[in-house]
Amino acid sequence: MDGSNSIVDAVVGEHCAEPACGARPLALAKHCATHLTDASAWRRALEDAVRRGDKLEGLSLASAPLDGAKLDLGEMAGCDLSRARLDGASLRGIDFKGACLRSASLRAADLTAAKLFETTLDAADLSGSILFRANAQRASFRGATLARADLRSANLRRADLDGAVVDDACFEGALRE
Ligand SMILES: [Zn+2]
Repeated sequence: MDGSNSIVDAVVGEHCAEPACGARPLALAKHCATHLTDASAWRRALEDAVRRGDKLEGLSLASAPLDGAKLDLGEMAGCDLSRARLDGASLRGIDFKGACLRSASLRAADLTAAKLFETTLDAADLSGSILFRANAQRASFRGATLARADLRSANLRRADLDGAVVDDACFEGALRE
């Protein structure tokens, strides 16, 4: 690491360093997710930023390789995590308010007490995930897979579950309208 205090300071440029790639680089990286050279080091840097309590709102994290990442209590409101890979990630109490996780993979992720207010999870794979006590008011789960998910005591008021697969999901005590 370069000793930056803020993850935002470490955003390197507007475009991926790979010649002719016009994609935005991942926050904290010179490259986009496709051209990221050391994914595990990059993931550790993000985990460290969360552990320090850095504000990570609105960052560009599309297609980020974050399987198994430990991002508990991360402040990641408004981040673009579309197509991100978060299988088995620990996301307890994370703030994903208004974030976009469209088509993200969150299989068996632990989202206990996560803040999913107005979060977009359309077409996301949340199979076997834990959403116990999550606040998903006004969240959009259109076409998402929630098979075997644990949604006990989750707040799903005004959440959009249109076309979502909920086979064997548990909604005990969940708030719905
Ligand atoms: Zn690239």
